[in-house]
Amino acid sequence: MLTRVKSAVAGFMGGVVAGGSSGGGGNAGSELPLKFPYMRPEFLGLSQDEIECSADHIARPILILKETRRLPWATGYAEVINAGKSALNEDQACCEVVVARRRPMSYCPPSTPSKTPTAKRRTSLPNGEGPGLCDGEGLVFHYWALFDGHAGSGAAVVASRLLQHHIACQLQAVIEILRNLASFPPTVLGEEPDSNPYLQGNTLTRAASLRGAAGAPSSPCNTPPPPRFFTEKKIQHESLVVGAIENAFKEMDAQIEKEKQVHHITGGCTALTVVYLLGKLYIGNAGDSRAIIVRNNEIIPMSTEFTPESERQRLQFLGFMQPHLLGNEFTHLEFPRRVQRKEVGKRMLYRDFTMNGWAYKTIGDEDLKFPLIYGEGKKARVLATIGVTRGLGDHDLKVHDSNIYIKPFLSCCPEVKVYDLIQYEHGADDVLVMGTDGLWDVLSNQEVAEVVTTFLANCDPDDIHRYTMAAQDLVMRARGVLRDRGWRITNERLGSGDDISAFIIPLMYGNRQP
Ligand code: MG
Repeated sequence: MLTRVKSAVAGFMGGVVAGGSSGGGGNAGSELPLKFPYMRPEFLGLSQDEIECSADHIARPILILKETRRLPWATGYAEVINAGKSALNEDQACCEVVVARRRPMSYCPPSTPSKTPTAKRRTSLPNGEGPGLCDGEGLVFHYWALFDGHAGSGAAVVASRLLQHHIACQLQAVIEILRNLASFPPTVLGEEPDSNPYLQGNTLTRAASLRGAAGAPSSPCNTPPPPRFFTEKKIQHESLVVGAIENAFKEMDAQIEKEKQVHHITGGCTALTVVYLLGKLYIGNAGDSRAIIVRNNEIIPMSTEFTPESERQRLQFLGFMQPHLLGNEFTHLEFPRRVQRKEVGKRMLYRDFTMNGWAYKTIGDEDLKFPLIYGEGKKARVLATIGVTRGLGDHDLKVHDSNIYIKPFLSCCPEVKVYDLIQYEHGADDVLVMGTDGLWDVLSNQEVAEVVTTFLANCDPDDIHRYTMAAQDLVMRARGVLRDRGWRITNERLGSGDDISAFIIPLMYGNRQP
């Protein structure tokens, strides 16, 4: 147990401290084949030599998009490897335009790019132009994602290749309803929202939902359902997209668990996704990456980090309800410091899952167990092992030298926030910034906004590479420069030694979508 305590205190960058996080790119130690080979984001178009050069922990080169390549909406991207924490860069990224095609509800397998046409990259729309509707049967959505792997790169690589297809698969079930919304928005129909039986102030009735889900015709020209249906709960259209993203994360996690039976998939990962669909951005976050919108010099946080501290009460409640998950070695109670045997019988401050504040209790033998949550800030750990409480994978992760599984305490459910993009006019310098924790560990929201805004203000507004260069500048400022054997940023602060990945997404392109 002492080793676990030391590990918990010594760990400094999120992820796990037990089990190690080096390597993970090959399948050493496993007879099983890899699901996907280790790679850098596909859109970077790196050769094997370039991938190897990018893993230089001394030079830490910043990778950006090649001049000949372009991401949807002219999105900027940059990344850099860690300073030696792990052999490989365990962050992964994805950026695609995806088509979700209509399929019967019963057909929704875990799709892969090569096996099913139900969700495929829309390579014919490299700049993201398009109305959101696709020929007669599909919906187009834009997709950006960052994954921060730990204890190996396997889960992050798999999620970066497949999560968008799970989202497309989940959207299939509500395509009819969403297509009706796109084809007959109330303003186009020239009627008040409430006079359209299917569109009630951007909500739908359960009747419409059920009809759409059943695959029956759901044109607004049909006979309105009986009035009694309108006494039922109204569900916003955007809630259907939120639900699709939530279920996609769940399906992705289940697929990783299942595929681990036949493939070598190491570790786990956080996941931060952005979906643009029918005029709205959906930002889904499971982990400690972050997204902010910078609009007219205002900062709008678009995600919440999920850490042992931010999820303390959920974790403590689980430990209280299912104490066997604590293996008789941990207590779900929190104390200000580790309780010592000589303090048994004395009073000490504590807090339980019902509390935000602190109260006194008399210490008993049970309280000598190691706390379920221990440490502060970036050093906080669950079960002395992991510093992030939501994400994908980690199905085999155990407390060091024990049989206690971590996974029951981890959640794969994202929090999804919605930004109504077409409600606002956006200028060329209004952006959404996505970054893994390597960025936010050393730069505040305000600093990131200032760096990006200042850089863009000095760029030619018509230069399509300006967001790529801004991303490069941002990552450089978080990495810093190597001085006196350490990475230093502004004011001699320590630079980030973690992997850093960042997207800068210009929002004005969303306003060009009908
Ligand atoms: Mg990280």
